[in-house]
Amino acid sequence: MKKTVLAFDIDQTLNIAKTPITEEIADLLIACLDHYEICPISGQKFDQFLIQIVNPMLERGVKPTQLEHLHLFVAQGTQYYRYNNTTTKKYGGGPISIEVSKDHPFAKYDESKWEQVYSFPLTDEQVKNITFAIETAAKELGFWEEDKLQKGDEIIENRLSQVTFSALGQKAGTEEKYAWDPDCKKRNQIVKRAKELAPEFDYEVGGTTSINAITPGMNKQFGMNKLLKELGVKKSDILYFGDMTQPGGNDYPVVQMGIDTITVRSHEDTAFALRGILGVSD
Ligand SMILES: [Mg+2]
Repeated sequence: MKKTVLAFDIDQTLNIAKTPITEEIADLLIACLDHYEICPISGQKFDQFLIQIVNPMLERGVKPTQLEHLHLFVAQGTQYYRYNNTTTKKYGGGPISIEVSKDHPFAKYDESKWEQVYSFPLTDEQVKNITFAIETAAKELGFWEEDKLQKGDEIIENRLSQVTFSALGQKAGTEEKYAWDPDCKKRNQIVKRAKELAPEFDYEVGGTTSINAITPGMNKQFGMNKLLKELGVKKSDILYFGDMTQPGGNDYPVVQMGIDTITVRSHEDTAFALRGILGVSD
């Protein structure tokens, strides 16, 4: 079956969780951009998409014109960014100026050309209700660690489409974070109480000290439906790669939609499959 779109989970599918993709994956994705629309979709924020996916591709020489085929479905696809290389930059000055075409060597990569096509943020009221529920729960249980925060850091962060609780803040050290709740017991208690206080939201335990609060249904199925609409493609045009495709896994909603899926254990499996798709041998 002919595919025109390759969509990817990020953590454990394209990378080792929370780290930039390898040079090998970057090279394979760049090669794919000449033949397919490439769509990473993950719960992470936009800046992490740049750090983990885009910047390593730039280091491997991706061209701005190729980036136009890279579609970033941020925060499980509740936000969509694409690279608009049509520059408005002019040079020459004075009354006569020449618009730089997108193929001109002057039209270099420019981070500000990532345009947000849409965003479905939580309302102020929803953010307020979630914040109240989690803060109250953590305080009641004695898990509100404000005194341990580094300067300028915060425990509850509004990530537009979700609200994230990080017990020790964003800037805490890895070791400190791992030690805080290794068996998830503290967070499960906070979730239980927060769910009583604001039952209209879903709370997911994630990372080492985090809880993500979202509105129900804002999972990958939402994002993939948006992808279909934005790219004007059918489900059968897409091949999806994910490591958590089992029932209950965060890639499972994509499987349930009937989209062709390749289950991988790691980015090494993904690289193997991509080499096959590209017909590249090494
Ligand atoms: Mg994953």
